[in-house]
Amino acid sequence: MTSSAAGGVYAMTDFRITLPCAECVGTGEIENQIAAGDFSISICGLCWGNGFKSHTEMYDCIEDARLDYPNALGIEGERGGRSV
Ligand SMILES: [Zn+2]
Repeated sequence: MTSSAAGGVYAMTDFRITLPCAECVGTGEIENQIAAGDFSISICGLCWGNGFKSHTEMYDCIEDARLDYPNALGIEGERGGRSV
């Protein structure tokens, strides 16, 4: 919870934005080539094997969030949330 020093006039809503992980492209695993024909699979350190990452951003409405993240896997409001 953060408080705005500006003394907010507008009631912004927190939206949770879920995006596919850029590191593993949503697989949750990273393939490392050790030698020719020899691969090791390790869990993606960026998303910890989830294949996606989510963060919270403030928007006036969910339409604004959708405009910023057209490729989001999901966008949901933190309060009174309705998932997309
Ligand atoms: Zn990942």
